[in-house]
Amino acid sequence: MKKITIAIDGYSSTGKSTVAKQLADHLGYVYVDSGAMYRAVTLYAMQHGIISESNFDTEKLIESLSSIQLKFIKEANWNKAHIFLNGKDVENEIRNLEVSKYVSPIATIHEVRVKLVAQQQLMGLEKGVVMDGRDIGTVVFPNAELKIFMNASANERAQRRYKELIARGETVDFKDVLKNIQDRDRIDTTRDDSPLRKATDAIEIDNSEMNLEDQFHTVLQLAKDRIAGRV
Ligand code: C5P
Repeated sequence: MKKITIAIDGYSSTGKSTVAKQLADHLGYVYVDSGAMYRAVTLYAMQHGIISESNFDTEKLIESLSSIQLKFIKEANWNKAHIFLNGKDVENEIRNLEVSKYVSPIATIHEVRVKLVAQQQLMGLEKGVVMDGRDIGTVVFPNAELKIFMNASANERAQRRYKELIARGETVDFKDVLKNIQDRDRIDTTRDDSPLRKATDAIEIDNSEMNLEDQFHTVLQLAKDRIAGRV
Protein backbone atom coordinates (compact mmCIF):
# COMPACT_ATOMS: atom_id res chain seq x y z
CA MET A 1 0.00 0.00 0.00
CA LYS A 2 1.16 3.54 -0.75
CA LYS A 3 2.76 5.28 2.23
CA ILE A 4 2.24 8.96 2.84
CA THR A 5 3.65 11.69 5.06
CA ILE A 6 1.28 13.24 7.58
CA ALA A 7 2.10 16.65 9.09
CA ILE A 8 0.17 17.81 12.15
CA ASP A 9 0.73 21.39 13.28
CA GLY A 10 -1.08 23.69 15.64
CA TYR A 11 -1.04 25.65 18.86
CA SER A 12 0.27 24.24 22.16
CA SER A 13 -1.83 21.59 23.88
CA THR A 14 -4.34 21.15 21.07
CA GLY A 15 -3.98 17.37 21.32
CA LYS A 16 -1.70 17.07 18.28
CA SER A 17 0.41 14.33 19.83
CA THR A 18 -2.62 12.27 20.87
CA VAL A 19 -4.12 12.19 17.39
CA ALA A 20 -0.71 11.80 15.71
CA LYS A 21 0.09 8.79 17.88
CA GLN A 22 -3.37 7.20 17.31
CA LEU A 23 -2.97 7.64 13.55
CA ALA A 24 0.57 6.23 13.50
CA ASP A 25 -0.47 3.19 15.56
CA HIS A 26 -3.49 2.54 13.36
CA LEU A 27 -1.60 2.89 10.07
CA GLY A 28 1.60 1.18 11.27
CA TYR A 29 3.51 4.44 10.71
CA VAL A 30 6.33 5.99 12.73
CA TYR A 31 5.26 8.77 15.08
CA VAL A 32 7.71 11.63 15.64
CA ASP A 33 7.09 14.23 18.35
CA SER A 34 9.21 17.13 17.06
CA GLY A 35 8.37 19.24 20.14
CA ALA A 36 10.24 16.68 22.26
CA MET A 37 13.41 17.57 20.31
CA TYR A 38 13.08 21.31 21.08
CA ARG A 39 12.30 20.41 24.70
CA ALA A 40 15.41 18.19 24.98
CA VAL A 41 17.64 20.99 23.62
CA THR A 42 16.02 23.29 26.21
CA LEU A 43 16.74 20.82 29.02
CA TYR A 44 20.38 20.70 27.92
CA ALA A 45 20.49 24.53 27.95
CA MET A 46 19.00 24.63 31.46
CA GLN A 47 21.46 22.02 32.74
CA HIS A 48 24.46 23.89 31.28
CA GLY A 49 23.62 27.39 32.53
CA ILE A 50 22.71 28.58 29.02
CA ILE A 51 19.18 29.66 29.93
CA SER A 52 17.70 30.70 33.28
CA GLU A 53 15.42 33.36 34.74
CA SER A 54 18.16 36.00 34.35
CA ASN A 55 20.22 34.79 31.40
CA PHE A 56 20.00 33.47 27.83
CA ASP A 57 23.41 32.90 26.25
CA THR A 58 22.53 32.28 22.59
CA GLU A 59 26.21 32.19 21.52
CA LYS A 60 26.96 29.40 24.00
CA LEU A 61 23.87 27.51 22.85
CA ILE A 62 24.96 27.69 19.22
CA GLU A 63 28.50 26.55 20.15
CA SER A 64 27.06 23.66 22.19
CA LEU A 65 24.82 22.31 19.43
CA SER A 66 27.45 19.84 18.19
CA SER A 67 27.52 18.33 21.72
CA ILE A 68 23.78 17.70 21.75
CA GLN A 69 22.77 14.28 20.46
CA LEU A 70 19.09 13.43 20.24
CA LYS A 71 17.69 10.00 19.57
CA PHE A 72 14.24 8.42 19.74
CA ILE A 73 14.22 4.87 21.16
CA LYS A 74 11.18 2.63 21.63
CA GLU A 75 11.26 -0.41 23.91
CA ALA A 76 8.65 -3.10 23.31
CA ASN A 77 6.77 -2.34 26.55
CA TRP A 78 6.58 1.45 26.01
CA ASN A 79 3.55 2.87 24.23
CA LYS A 80 5.65 5.51 22.46
CA ALA A 81 9.27 6.24 21.64
CA HIS A 82 11.17 8.14 24.32
CA ILE A 83 13.62 10.91 23.53
CA PHE A 84 17.22 10.41 24.68
CA LEU A 85 19.52 13.39 25.25
CA ASN A 86 23.17 12.34 25.00
CA GLY A 87 22.25 8.75 25.86
CA LYS A 88 19.87 9.54 28.74
CA ASP A 89 16.10 8.99 28.63
CA VAL A 90 14.62 12.46 29.32
CA GLU A 91 11.07 11.78 28.10
CA ASN A 92 9.55 12.56 31.48
CA GLU A 93 11.80 15.44 32.51
CA ILE A 94 11.15 17.49 29.36
CA ARG A 95 7.41 17.72 30.09
CA ASN A 96 7.62 19.89 33.21
CA LEU A 97 6.47 23.51 33.31
CA GLU A 98 10.04 24.81 33.75
CA VAL A 99 11.06 23.34 30.36
CA SER A 100 7.78 24.60 28.86
CA LYS A 101 8.72 28.11 30.05
CA TYR A 102 12.05 28.20 28.19
CA VAL A 103 11.36 26.06 25.13
CA SER A 104 9.80 28.71 22.88
CA PRO A 105 12.69 31.21 23.25
CA ILE A 106 15.10 28.33 22.50
CA ALA A 107 13.03 27.41 19.41
CA THR A 108 13.46 30.93 17.97
CA ILE A 109 17.20 30.31 17.39
CA HIS A 110 17.86 29.71 13.70
CA GLU A 111 20.81 27.33 14.24
CA VAL A 112 18.73 25.16 16.59
CA ARG A 113 15.98 24.91 13.97
CA VAL A 114 18.43 24.06 11.18
CA LYS A 115 19.86 21.18 13.20
CA LEU A 116 16.49 19.76 14.27
CA VAL A 117 14.75 20.21 10.91
CA ALA A 118 17.57 18.29 9.18
CA GLN A 119 17.19 15.41 11.64
CA GLN A 120 13.38 15.45 11.23
CA GLN A 121 13.63 15.37 7.44
CA LEU A 122 15.93 12.34 7.66
CA MET A 123 13.37 10.52 9.82
CA GLY A 124 10.72 11.15 7.17
CA LEU A 125 12.76 10.09 4.13
CA GLU A 126 10.94 6.81 3.69
CA LYS A 127 7.44 8.22 4.28
CA GLY A 128 5.04 6.30 6.52
CA VAL A 129 5.57 8.98 9.16
CA VAL A 130 3.25 11.12 11.25
CA MET A 131 5.06 14.13 12.71
CA ASP A 132 3.58 16.82 14.91
CA GLY A 133 4.95 20.27 15.68
CA ARG A 134 4.69 23.88 14.58
CA ASP A 135 6.44 23.98 11.18
CA ILE A 136 5.97 20.46 9.87
CA GLY A 137 3.59 21.28 7.00
CA THR A 138 5.30 24.59 6.19
CA VAL A 139 9.03 23.83 6.51
CA VAL A 140 9.90 20.22 7.40
CA PHE A 141 7.58 18.45 4.93
CA PRO A 142 6.10 21.09 2.61
CA ASN A 143 5.11 18.26 0.24
CA ALA A 144 3.31 16.14 2.85
CA GLU A 145 0.26 14.45 1.34
CA LEU A 146 -1.85 15.30 4.40
CA LYS A 147 -1.50 18.42 6.51
CA ILE A 148 -3.66 19.05 9.55
CA PHE A 149 -3.74 22.28 11.54
CA MET A 150 -5.22 21.88 15.00
CA ASN A 151 -6.78 24.55 17.13
CA ALA A 152 -8.87 24.96 20.30
CA SER A 153 -9.59 27.87 22.65
CA ALA A 154 -6.69 28.85 24.96
CA ASN A 155 -8.84 28.19 28.03
CA GLU A 156 -9.78 24.68 26.87
CA ARG A 157 -6.13 23.91 26.06
CA ALA A 158 -4.95 25.16 29.46
CA GLN A 159 -7.59 23.03 31.23
CA ARG A 160 -6.35 19.91 29.40
CA ARG A 161 -2.69 20.70 30.10
CA TYR A 162 -3.40 21.49 33.76
CA LYS A 163 -5.15 18.12 34.24
CA GLU A 164 -2.23 16.36 32.54
CA LEU A 165 0.38 18.00 34.80
CA ILE A 166 -1.65 17.30 37.96
CA ALA A 167 -2.09 13.67 36.89
CA ARG A 168 1.71 13.45 36.57
CA GLY A 169 2.03 14.58 40.19
CA GLU A 170 3.21 18.15 39.54
CA THR A 171 2.14 21.05 41.74
CA VAL A 172 1.04 23.81 39.37
CA ASP A 173 -1.36 26.76 39.31
CA PHE A 174 -3.94 26.90 36.55
CA LYS A 175 -3.10 30.56 35.87
CA ASP A 176 0.59 29.69 35.31
CA VAL A 177 -0.38 26.95 32.85
CA LEU A 178 -2.70 29.33 30.95
CA LYS A 179 -0.02 32.04 30.89
CA ASN A 180 2.57 29.55 29.58
CA ILE A 181 0.24 28.54 26.74
CA GLN A 182 -0.48 32.17 25.83
CA ASP A 183 3.23 33.10 25.98
CA ARG A 184 4.19 30.14 23.78
CA ASP A 185 1.42 30.95 21.26
CA ARG A 186 2.75 34.50 21.03
CA ILE A 187 6.42 33.55 20.65
CA ASP A 188 5.70 30.66 18.26
CA THR A 189 3.53 32.77 15.93
CA THR A 190 5.71 35.90 15.89
CA ARG A 191 9.27 34.50 15.62
CA ASP A 192 11.20 35.34 12.43
CA ASP A 193 12.27 31.79 11.59
CA SER A 194 9.47 29.35 10.69
CA PRO A 195 6.66 30.96 12.68
CA LEU A 196 3.62 28.81 13.45
CA ARG A 197 1.28 29.25 10.48
CA LYS A 198 -1.41 27.17 8.91
CA ALA A 199 -0.01 25.91 5.59
CA THR A 200 -2.25 27.06 2.73
CA ASP A 201 -3.10 23.43 1.93
CA ALA A 202 -3.67 22.32 5.55
CA ILE A 203 -7.06 21.23 6.84
CA GLU A 204 -8.00 23.03 10.04
CA ILE A 205 -9.65 21.16 12.88
CA ASP A 206 -10.97 23.02 15.93
CA ASN A 207 -11.42 20.38 18.59
CA SER A 208 -12.71 22.62 21.43
CA GLU A 209 -16.04 20.76 21.26
CA MET A 210 -14.88 17.45 19.77
CA ASN A 211 -14.27 14.21 21.62
CA LEU A 212 -11.13 12.18 20.97
CA GLU A 213 -12.95 9.46 19.08
CA ASP A 214 -14.67 11.84 16.63
CA GLN A 215 -11.40 13.65 16.08
CA PHE A 216 -9.53 10.44 15.39
CA HIS A 217 -12.13 9.18 12.91
CA THR A 218 -12.17 12.52 11.06
CA VAL A 219 -8.39 12.53 10.65
CA LEU A 220 -8.20 8.81 9.84
CA GLN A 221 -10.70 9.27 7.01
CA LEU A 222 -8.62 12.13 5.59
CA ALA A 223 -5.54 9.89 5.70
CA LYS A 224 -7.30 6.91 4.11
CA ASP A 225 -8.57 9.09 1.25
CA ARG A 226 -5.02 10.19 0.48
CA ILE A 227 -3.51 6.72 0.81
CA ALA A 228 -6.13 5.39 -1.60
CA GLY A 229 -5.46 8.29 -3.96
CA ARG A 230 -9.08 9.54 -3.72
CA VAL A 231 -7.88 13.10 -3.02
O1 C5P B 1 4.80 20.32 20.89
P1 C5P B 1 5.32 20.93 22.18
O2 C5P B 1 4.30 21.78 22.87
O3 C5P B 1 5.96 19.94 23.07
O4 C5P B 1 6.48 21.91 21.68
C1 C5P B 1 7.20 22.71 22.59
C2 C5P B 1 7.69 23.97 21.90
O5 C5P B 1 8.69 23.62 20.94
C3 C5P B 1 6.66 24.79 21.14
O6 C5P B 1 5.94 25.69 21.96
C4 C5P B 1 7.54 25.51 20.12
O7 C5P B 1 8.12 26.65 20.70
C5 C5P B 1 8.65 24.51 19.85
N1 C5P B 1 8.44 23.74 18.61
C6 C5P B 1 8.79 24.33 17.42
N2 C5P B 1 8.70 23.62 16.26
C7 C5P B 1 8.26 22.36 16.25
C8 C5P B 1 7.86 21.74 17.47
C9 C5P B 1 7.95 22.47 18.63
O8 C5P B 1 9.19 25.50 17.39
N3 C5P B 1 8.20 21.69 15.10
